[in-house]
Amino acid sequence: MNTLDKNSMHSLKTWLLAREAEMLAEIEAGQKAIDVSASSDMREVNDLEDQASKRERTTVQDAEVQRDSNELADVRAALGRLTDGSYGTCIDCGQPIELQRLVAMPAAARCLACQTQFEVRAIPASLTTRS
Ligand SMILES: [Zn+2]
Repeated sequence: MNTLDKNSMHSLKTWLLAREAEMLAEIEAGQKAIDVSASSDMREVNDLEDQASKRERTTVQDAEVQRDSNELADVRAALGRLTDGSYGTCIDCGQPIELQRLVAMPAAARCLACQTQFEVRAIPASLTTRS
């Protein structure tokens, strides 16, 4: 049967815990970088061009922190499902998630079919209506 045995469960949990620590470190580093560019902006108010490029960098860092936070939330949710025993089950349709998919993406909360559906729904309207 294509289900999770104790060994795969254990390696997935190890991976998720390592990933959680990694994401926390990246978020912290990213927030520090944002703080640094925010405070240097205040000292260099006369250089408009420099300000603009700094603002752009801050936006990129912000987006990275946001992405890391999202992944951290996914990883933590997966760890929670490991604890309550629902790990490996699609949160939408309740069917088992393909083992190969879990190995490739241990934080996956949905089977491939539901994830595809979810991503279609998650695309903001502003992106799909832009010509
Ligand atoms: Zn599903």
